[in-house]
Amino acid sequence: MNPLHLYNTLSNSLEEFKPLHPGQVLMYNCGPTVYNFAHIGNLSSYLMADLLRRYLEYKGYEVKQVMNITDVGHLVSDSDTGEDKMEKAAREQQQDPMDIARKYEQVFHEDRKKLHIKDAMAYPRASEYIPQQLEAVKKLLEQGIAYETSDGVYFDVSQFPDYGQLSNNKLEDLNAGERVEIDEEKRNPADFALWKKCTGENAHHILRWSFETGERVSGLEEDVSVGFPGWHIECSAMASALLGETIDIHTGGEDNIFPHHECEIAQSRAVSGQSFFAHYWVHKRHIFVDGEKMSKSKGNFYTLSDLEKKGFEPLAYRYLIFSTHYRQNTNFTLKGMEDATKSIERLQTFLESLQEASDQGPELDAQAAREKFEHSLDDDLNSSGALAAVFDLVKEGNKAIAEFGGIKNRLDLLKFLRDFDQIFAILSWDVEEEKDPEIEMHITRRNEARANKDFDKADEIRDQLKEKGVELIDKDGRTAWKRVK
Ligand SMILES: [Zn+2]
Repeated sequence: MNPLHLYNTLSNSLEEFKPLHPGQVLMYNCGPTVYNFAHIGNLSSYLMADLLRRYLEYKGYEVKQVMNITDVGHLVSDSDTGEDKMEKAAREQQQDPMDIARKYEQVFHEDRKKLHIKDAMAYPRASEYIPQQLEAVKKLLEQGIAYETSDGVYFDVSQFPDYGQLSNNKLEDLNAGERVEIDEEKRNPADFALWKKCTGENAHHILRWSFETGERVSGLEEDVSVGFPGWHIECSAMASALLGETIDIHTGGEDNIFPHHECEIAQSRAVSGQSFFAHYWVHKRHIFVDGEKMSKSKGNFYTLSDLEKKGFEPLAYRYLIFSTHYRQNTNFTLKGMEDATKSIERLQTFLESLQEASDQGPELDAQAAREKFEHSLDDDLNSSGALAAVFDLVKEGNKAIAEFGGIKNRLDLLKFLRDFDQIFAILSWDVEEEKDPEIEMHITRRNEARANKDFDKADEIRDQLKEKGVELIDKDGRTAWKRVK
């Protein structure tokens, strides 16, 4: 297979993807802050990560994927001032911040499943990795890269020469441009928080842990011995705990580049002493709605359930996102959702007519279509180009079926469509398929085992197929199968 090329924000260039360990990809995706419903812009970044993961799997890699759940420490300003988003939501909704977190975390998983976003290996919660975060903070303090002030612990950016590399910012400009009220105790205006103490505007923070022991403590009074982590440190600590000090790919939305990812790199590398935290940084561009930036005040702010209420299938949104290259801004419109719905229908209709067609007729060049498809995705995950390759084949296929009632190499086309859909995951494969030789062989072996009353063996074969995403259905004395996503 040809190599995949990805645009790496860190080098500002298209690079050939080479994993740290052969055959394996370690990928970390910045996930949701669970204080509210995810909007379609947030979801688009997870969709991009899913496309990347599925394409890497198509290419034969085993992908170890981790996506964090932020349930503490993300302040409303995205920097080090203002209220914690969780605590603000808790105050407004008069609920415990952890109840709010669990509620929206569940909604996130529901949305994700509706969008056919595959399960990651882990969804670590920031609130459950406090000891690991404190360990990193303490290490940075020992090294003198972090320092303590009356309201927290800060990272001294002047001691990390590569600070600004990811976001193309110069430290002088960052220090000069810092518009927040100058904190007299900070060594540099651009220094960022690793730990916030329960004092000042955070004196009454509900979610609090002992700096000493890392244990959760209760109380609502000012107490500088307790506090909560800064937003960025969770990703450094959890990526390292679950994937290792150096990983292959880190993704997020483009708004994560600065300060979030810049800070993650500084912390992770200062702790590990490695020259890389993630080798490839992949960022999804913004979504515009009717040509404008999404915002609640403009009323052009959508969640997935808003789209469902308008009668759209969630998968139409999945399609819409993949119909534009991830490094171009998507302009979301309801008309675009209607078009996406029609495009899926067209593919679904073709799939069904292909399943019913005969094996007689012309031979189509499925291999050329597949090569075009792969070539597009290898080129920085050009999903719109990949879709175009599929639709060219659909056009030819429809013509052949209309004219000859079938296609000689129909099964090659079906195989290609199935591989396509392992990545795009927008079609419905409820119709049984009898023609996959490998699966047929397993079914035959299982039937033999059952005939010999070797039911353990029969179950084992069924379970092995299930692991490969194939579900067997025993009906009327014969065995059909379907793919499950
Ligand atoms: Zn993150």
